[in-house]
Amino acid sequence: MEKTFRVYDQSDVKSAVRVHYRKMRKNQTLDYVKRMHNKYLTFDKPMDLWEAMEHLNTLIDVSDPDLDLPNIQHLIQSAEAIRADNRPDWMQLTGLIHDLGKVMFLWGNDEDGTSQAEQWGMVGDVFVVGCKLPDTCVYPEFNALNSDMNDKRYNTDLGIYKEGCGLDNLDLAWGHDEYLFQVLQNHSSNKLPEEAMVMIRYHSFYPWHTGGSYSQLLNEKDKEYLEWIRDFNKYDLYTKCDKTYDLKEVKEYYQPIAEKYLGTAPIYW
Ligand code: FE
Ligand code: FE
Repeated sequence: MEKTFRVYDQSDVKSAVRVHYRKMRKNQTLDYVKRMHNKYLTFDKPMDLWEAMEHLNTLIDVSDPDLDLPNIQHLIQSAEAIRADNRPDWMQLTGLIHDLGKVMFLWGNDEDGTSQAEQWGMVGDVFVVGCKLPDTCVYPEFNALNSDMNDKRYNTDLGIYKEGCGLDNLDLAWGHDEYLFQVLQNHSSNKLPEEAMVMIRYHSFYPWHTGGSYSQLLNEKDKEYLEWIRDFNKYDLYTKCDKTYDLKEVKEYYQPIAEKYLGTAPIYW
């Protein structure tokens, strides 16, 4: 039988996933997102790429119904699948690092939802804050729990945004995508192409890239973004398996690629 992914409405989906999404939808308000930007986008904690990878050895993503392995295994599986398809080196590297923003848990806490125990500020499908939550969100029944949905500044299709303003001008729920994007954007030796940066920033934005919502906010450029994201997402989603790797084994291959695009200086988180 062919394996299916992202099935959330079956009785065997761990209730932890549902509990996670309930908290995420309730707590990720525009005000919360602004606070997290101020708190976490400080770029004052130097850490080498490989050290960051090692830290993901201890983190299991509670929002993922398909994988019970430490997150580093998912990163290596994604990268190896991109490599097996002979895709460009920068895309292989993107596969390897795309979830590294989850290292946020190292300096996170339960109240922010950025810890090992509370991950609702770190992982899971994201949505736009500052405008109406669409029904394409996973577990849409939780949308009403978000207090912004009772605020008439934020509960309309446009909310605080201008029609057609484009993805890059929206604030999304806070999580590992935006964190890594901002960290790499701030990294002076970053030479990753625009496609890679878009893949990193928007891969968890399912209500847009898979649900087809938010057309009122999109611009011309976002059509191209959508193609890049869909291309990347097959590797993020369909490569999840039980095969495990040793980081040391694959490091020899990926290190020169990492140096080519990110240099050798530590990254500031
Ligand atoms: Fe991710
Ligand atoms: Fe991923």
